[in-house]
Amino acid sequence: MRLILLGPPGAGKGTQAQRLVEKHKIPQLSTGDMLRAAVAAQSPVGLKAKAVMDAGELVSDDIVNAIVAERIDQADCKAGFILDGYPRTLAQADAVESMLSERKLKLDTVIELVVDDKALVGRIVKRADDAKAAGLPVRKDDNPQVFDERLREYYKKTAPLTGYYYAKKLLTNVDGMASIDDVTAQIEAVLNTVSA
Ligand code: AMP
Repeated sequence: MRLILLGPPGAGKGTQAQRLVEKHKIPQLSTGDMLRAAVAAQSPVGLKAKAVMDAGELVSDDIVNAIVAERIDQADCKAGFILDGYPRTLAQADAVESMLSERKLKLDTVIELVVDDKALVGRIVKRADDAKAAGLPVRKDDNPQVFDERLREYYKKTAPLTGYYYAKKLLTNVDGMASIDDVTAQIEAVLNTVSA
């Protein structure tokens, strides 16, 4: 099973991806996590990406495409994977298509978590508060100022992907404002139709 989770920052993609990992035993490929790891390791990619990420803007397509292309060749991706936070631009979506067709693989489905913008900033603030309370590091971009830019980037560059995947008959909308368990149930219902 190869699927994409689409949706704005704070929509719950990461939370749902983790549940899918447990249930379907396929890895979550979060470009945000991979980039944060690169920043922490101060690798050449991390050094390039840091300022862009801190500003809430998108890292270049070349960088993220290369990271994902390398990642999907690893053994744990053989049975499938969940793309979380990638693709985020039309150029990245084209890159996914090429990557998969070069490997004679196909994308099974794209699930969009549809949420109310007004709820998003509250979720981001909560994520930062929860991390702080748990003694975990707080993401530098999880604050209302940077979040504004992240949302703008989403509408400018990522939202067009819904049309792209709709046209390919791969898109299903899920109500991301429902409870976490409900959203999981809606996603599982979509996956059942795909694997049936
Ligand atoms: P996320 O954890 O998915 O919210 O990503 C955090 C940040 O990493 C984003 O605001 C971007 O700066 C960067 N990033 C993550 N995924 C991508 C991507 N697919 N394309 C470009 N930048 C990305």
